[in-house]
Amino acid sequence: MEQIGEILISEERIKERVTELGAQISRDYKEKDLVAIGILRGGVMFMSDLIKEIKIPLSIDFMAVSSYGMSTKSSGIVRILKDLDDDIEGKDVLIIEDIVDTGLTLHYLMDYLKSRHPRSVKVCSFLDKPSRRKIEVPIDYLGFEIPDKFVVGYGLDYAQKYRNLPYVSVLSEEDL
Ligand code: 5GP
Repeated sequence: MEQIGEILISEERIKERVTELGAQISRDYKEKDLVAIGILRGGVMFMSDLIKEIKIPLSIDFMAVSSYGMSTKSSGIVRILKDLDDDIEGKDVLIIEDIVDTGLTLHYLMDYLKSRHPRSVKVCSFLDKPSRRKIEVPIDYLGFEIPDKFVVGYGLDYAQKYRNLPYVSVLSEEDL
């Protein structure tokens, strides 16, 4: 059985940071046409908390892509499991991600979304693991930078479990 290890980021710290990010995004997107695009499934908890802190009109949409342990890891080819429902042409897109690790998923997503002619594409990621980066990607809004450890909670899973934890925790080493 895998074990939940140390708490890396507490519920309180997450709340504080999400409020700050929401305020910053509200200021930056005042005169824009914001579409927040959540990346399923890991980005969902972050997105739902974040958009409550964004105090300007916005719309939301979702994409699902194949994730960790699949083709992402080696090739950078990402499989789209669920595409956008609405057109983003001329819109100001903000991608809402759970974590940027190698950067391959985000790199692919940015290219894909740009090909649909939005006015702008920016990235808001809850976590960043910069030590594992394989390809450079811009993160315009970041929750927290973390060390190279496998984390769960606040949307992030291990074998589909632990997404519902309200904090971020490290999974103990021997289970991975
Ligand atoms: P990438 O390597 O393409 O930047 O990240 C792809 C995906 O891998 C992330 O969106 C996330 O779903 C998953 N991932 C990367 N690092 C972790 C981690 O520490 N914990 C969990 N649960 N998922 C991770």
